[in-house]
Amino acid sequence: MPANRRFRHLVRIGPVQVGTAYDQRGREKHTAACTAPRCGFSTEYDSRAAAELAARTHRCPAR
Ligand SMILES: [Zn+2]
Repeated sequence: MPANRRFRHLVRIGPVQVGTAYDQRGREKHTAACTAPRCGFSTEYDSRAAAELAARTHRCPAR
């Protein structure tokens, strides 16, 4: 997770954290980021549902 952004509604699904933040243009962005040290999975989505789905279906190579 980038430390310079404030994430709201942080939840953890398996090793993946999902959070909602605003980007520089004030649009909501939903980020799914894996917390496993050697994984590096981190993707932004336009919808919360898409981010949570990605978190649920993430197959972590570092686990
Ligand atoms: Zn992972």
